[in-house]
Amino acid sequence: MSERDDELSDIAEIVREHVEWEALLGGAVVPASFAPMPAGGKTGAGSATPVSAGSGTPSASNAVSDSASNSVSDSVSNSASVSDSVSVPASASDRRALLSVLATEVSTCTRCRLHEKRTRTVFARGSENAEIAFVGEGPGYNEDQQGLPFVGAAGQLLDKMIGAMGYGRDEVYVCNVVKCRPPENRTPLPDEAATCEPFLTRQLEVVAPKVIIALGRCAAENLGCAEPGRSWRGSWGSWRGVPVMATYHPAYLLRSPEMKRPVWEDLQKVMARLGRDVPSRKG
Ligand code: SF4
Repeated sequence: MSERDDELSDIAEIVREHVEWEALLGGAVVPASFAPMPAGGKTGAGSATPVSAGSGTPSASNAVSDSASNSVSDSVSNSASVSDSVSVPASASDRRALLSVLATEVSTCTRCRLHEKRTRTVFARGSENAEIAFVGEGPGYNEDQQGLPFVGAAGQLLDKMIGAMGYGRDEVYVCNVVKCRPPENRTPLPDEAATCEPFLTRQLEVVAPKVIIALGRCAAENLGCAEPGRSWRGSWGSWRGVPVMATYHPAYLLRSPEMKRPVWEDLQKVMARLGRDVPSRKG
């Protein structure tokens, strides 16, 4: 099947999935601020800040102090000191600038073999003020082309999950374990995930979400919340003191739509932990 055929298949999948997800939620109201974001752009919802690889601008980099900027590079070069060597700035603009510096560093990274076949690195999207961070596995075809995470069919489904939770698409933070597309969309190898781990660690440290949602076993494992041979989905884990809810990856839900119900139950646990109500239903 060609990539064009893949895209058409994705579109058909999105339409089918949309109907099924709406049915599952019983017509839950989707916030007005929730709307698909055009490729490479933003919806204008809230204070959202898409952060794509290479999005660091001179002004953004200058907004953060040289010492902070250097610390980001130092910390990523030495994963053992990530937590200890960098203090997280309180201001949103400095956090945004730090993430921009980090995204720029990712955009030129060649530390593992995954850089060899990438089109673009995929750093993150969303808000540096997010109270929820979603962590997926790695970029797929569409993400690799656009340089943004979760923009294909699975991304459309993730957006519906986010909307169903009562958040705007860009009110949350979305990133992956690895920032470059694994060939044929395979799961990242352990050494690739380990090499990229300091970037993920630094992202989560800077954003400092109240809850992390691990999308799929790969993310759960790399956040230390999945033990071999044990059930990993639907219970709380912890990453450096931050609660982690592990649930199925949206790409899996596209293949197994009957699993949307347990995923919705997982998302409701997150909402309860954050003290948020389930959005009211129509009618
Ligand atoms: S996957 Fe991560 S560590 Fe590997 S080349 Fe890409 S940014 Fe660098």
